[in-house]
Amino acid sequence: MMPLLLATSNPHKIEEIAAVLEPLGIEVVGLDSLDVIPPEPVEDGNTFEANARLKAIGYARSTGQLCLADDSGLVVDALGGAPGIHSARYAGLGETRDERDRANNEKLMRELKDISEDQRSARFVCAMCLADEEGNVLAETRGEFPGLITNRPSGTNGFGYDPLLYLPDVDRTSAELSPADKNARSHRGHAARQMAEKLKEMSHKS
Ligand code: IMP
Repeated sequence: MMPLLLATSNPHKIEEIAAVLEPLGIEVVGLDSLDVIPPEPVEDGNTFEANARLKAIGYARSTGQLCLADDSGLVVDALGGAPGIHSARYAGLGETRDERDRANNEKLMRELKDISEDQRSARFVCAMCLADEEGNVLAETRGEFPGLITNRPSGTNGFGYDPLLYLPDVDRTSAELSPADKNARSHRGHAARQMAEKLKEMSHKS
């Protein structure tokens, strides 16, 4: 298995992307696998794409290896696209990932409390970028995962805002889907499958 560094220490992102890339013989490893974790590049881009690029290029240069980055978040139409690129820290910092997720979900429900059901459209967006150790961008992909924001969080799978993204066609939230079912329709699954195609093309050319 060829190891590929993923610019995250979020175990959920690692698992979801690994499920797509492992069949290609790629072992997805997170930042926690490094002996020394380099400083986090400043994510000051205005788009998911710009931030994925900043992370991929920053970590590829600082570690001297090929690096894949995922920048993702939730875009809520009734909130003019918020929390968007600020999804991870929407409600502030918080000690642990679980605490931040809980506070973010509570804030989102508060912000939408007066919004009617037919105005609650939203989507997860994921931008992925693959960069080499010299900072060249080798591939970029994007995926979206549309749904409605429910005011009744449900489900324990996944992470982040998954319990709030309701999928009317299956009458479930994203957090009620199995990992395989989430990956089959999610923003990250779509972006990772397109990235897998690009990696296959690259390996055929080399
Ligand atoms: P990032 O780590 O800067 O890309 O921030 C991603 C944030 O967007 C996460 O902390 C979550 O709040 C949210 N997010 C992204 N993808 C998902 C997902 O698949 N499910 C639920 N929340 C997600």
